[in-house]
Amino acid sequence: ARLSRITKAETTCNYCAVGCRFELYGKDGEVLGVRPAEAEAAPANDFSTCVKGKFGYDFVDADDRLETPLIRKEDAPDGPVGREAFREATWAEAIDRVYEGLSEIRDEHGADALSVISSSKTTNEENYLNQKFARQVLGTPHVDNCARLCHSSTVAGLQQTVGYGAMTNRINEDIGETDCYLITGSNTTESHPVLATRIKQNVRDGAELIVFDPREIGLAEHADRYVRTTPGEDVAWLNGMMRHIIEEDLYDEAFVEERTRNFDDLKEKVEPFTPEQVEELTAVPAAELKAAAETIATADTCIFGWAMGLTQHTTGTRNVMAIADLALLTGNLGKPRAGLSPFRGQNNVQGGGGDMGPAPHTLPGYQSLGDEAVLEKFEGEWGVRPPNDIGLRLPEQFHAIDDGELRGMFVMGENPVLSEPDIDDVERSLREIDFLAVQDIFLSETAEYADVVLPAASAAEKSGTFTNTERRIQRVRPAVDPPGVAEPDQEILIRLARRFGYDWDYDGPADVMDEISSLVPIYGGVTYERLEAEPNGIQWPCVDEDDPGTPYLYEDEFNFEDGKARFVPADYASPPDMPDEEYPLTLSSGRVLYHWHTGTMTRRVGTSMNHVPESFVTIHPEMAAELGIEDEEYVRVQSRQGEIVVKSNVEDTADPGVVFIPMHFPQGAINKLTQHELDPTSYIPQYKVTSVRVTPL
Ligand code: SF4
Repeated sequence: ARLSRITKAETTCNYCAVGCRFELYGKDGEVLGVRPAEAEAAPANDFSTCVKGKFGYDFVDADDRLETPLIRKEDAPDGPVGREAFREATWAEAIDRVYEGLSEIRDEHGADALSVISSSKTTNEENYLNQKFARQVLGTPHVDNCARLCHSSTVAGLQQTVGYGAMTNRINEDIGETDCYLITGSNTTESHPVLATRIKQNVRDGAELIVFDPREIGLAEHADRYVRTTPGEDVAWLNGMMRHIIEEDLYDEAFVEERTRNFDDLKEKVEPFTPEQVEELTAVPAAELKAAAETIATADTCIFGWAMGLTQHTTGTRNVMAIADLALLTGNLGKPRAGLSPFRGQNNVQGGGGDMGPAPHTLPGYQSLGDEAVLEKFEGEWGVRPPNDIGLRLPEQFHAIDDGELRGMFVMGENPVLSEPDIDDVERSLREIDFLAVQDIFLSETAEYADVVLPAASAAEKSGTFTNTERRIQRVRPAVDPPGVAEPDQEILIRLARRFGYDWDYDGPADVMDEISSLVPIYGGVTYERLEAEPNGIQWPCVDEDDPGTPYLYEDEFNFEDGKARFVPADYASPPDMPDEEYPLTLSSGRVLYHWHTGTMTRRVGTSMNHVPESFVTIHPEMAAELGIEDEEYVRVQSRQGEIVVKSNVEDTADPGVVFIPMHFPQGAINKLTQHELDPTSYIPQYKVTSVRVTPL
């Protein structure tokens, strides 16, 4: 028999936004192994990966990968009945069916009856094309993506205070070398493991680590100060810290004077948050609050790191504004080894979910829908003026289906049937929708509701770019071929646009990047030629070919016309769903090291399933004893929205009144319990505080 060759690709991890680089080895459609890249080609990871980056590739050649387009059988019931609900189809048939399904709705009800959902799992080029498909081809303003559910509060909060909705600094040179950390709402060791290793190394070398979190997470073991917080009360302790720093005259007066506006407003707003008042609201001891504030204010440099524990609240944007205010107050911006560090979730959420503009309120590069010159620029390139009304945000799209306003949906790589809040409602909406097309690598929980399923290539099978959490644009390269007739999302989008009569004539992803750099100023100097020559990637803003990129932001000025940052004081409010007699416990959610998001990839990875095979609820030993619950027994968890059954994990990591469930599993899906309330600015759902009761079966 002919021996097939082992292939090697220098590429970027498709899990988290640390963006580790490695060599991926493949043969006959199977990923054989991973070799981390050395420092000069891997600024973020430097010869290291975590367990997902190293062993997380069984999904690539899983038996149930989609290998051919599928069309729902005429007599198949609406809803999840598995593969037998579909028949195999050719590309031509499937593309025709998507064209007919979407254009019939558009003809009858207008383009506003259609929506498009995009995904950070896919490349920058694919996200750019997906929003172009929505705006140019379909003519709908309703395009959104998964960043709505994770860091939309970060983007909204940072845009108002410092200008760009992005990490201000580098991973290695700044996070890895700072003097002090405030980490809050981030289980860094499990969600961004290589980044956590950097922090731990630096703490061993003498940096101060302060962790504020409702759970005693892995990083807390390494902290100089771990402070347990009450879920959803973050504005109170952040305002309290600022009040104490101002009262003790520990703030950076010169920085505040020269580089910011609105200090007096901030001072007034934080005044009521005395340490004693904060202790009453949040259970953060006054002495701990003061000591932490003093450490941060007196450190030469400080990194403020956070993730979804801060963002996924009805006060998510305010939480981010408050942490940005604290960084400004202490002068920790615009210099090395300091900065605001949102740890973005998905591999390409900064680029695909943000920079490329698959969002209802902004064009690619965060360019305004209200700016006539910007609209004209896009019209000049596309031949069509982008719709400039603000479209529906992701959670709103499902309500619009219920209201009969939205009738057709095209989903690329997302799984809202597990990721949206209150998923019983989402499933009902998808049963009602007139037409649903889903493009994915598996028959996901969402694809089960589709009329047409289009088989996509995974990141191990295609070419493109991802932008990691430090704004670093890096290459993605294929190590193996896609299974069957599956194609990269980009190629499928091109097929679709052509079927709608648009002459999308791209010669590969490099060509798409050229169009992006011509339209998006912060990517203005990014080309594939440069990315080949500069394996470390390029950090945006990179405005032209002579621009080396921007390692850390705001050295000279903030991203506002007058160059000054704004203090935007944050109002305090408690979460909407507080515990009561009926639902006495607070449920929080999150990730675990071995799994990723809705688990479509890691639930097909042997190592992950060996370690964490199913969902669970972590419950404090005292509460477990009070409720008569043993470790590892199945229990019922009920909220005002629904109920699930999961295994108990009795462990002392949070207050007795707080329980935790991971987000990765369809059995025991946490989002059967979560609620509809949204942050009024970012429209992120309140995922982190849900009142529940737990009972033995
Ligand atoms: Fe991949 Fe993140 Fe792990 Fe690095 S830390 S290998 S980017 S999952």
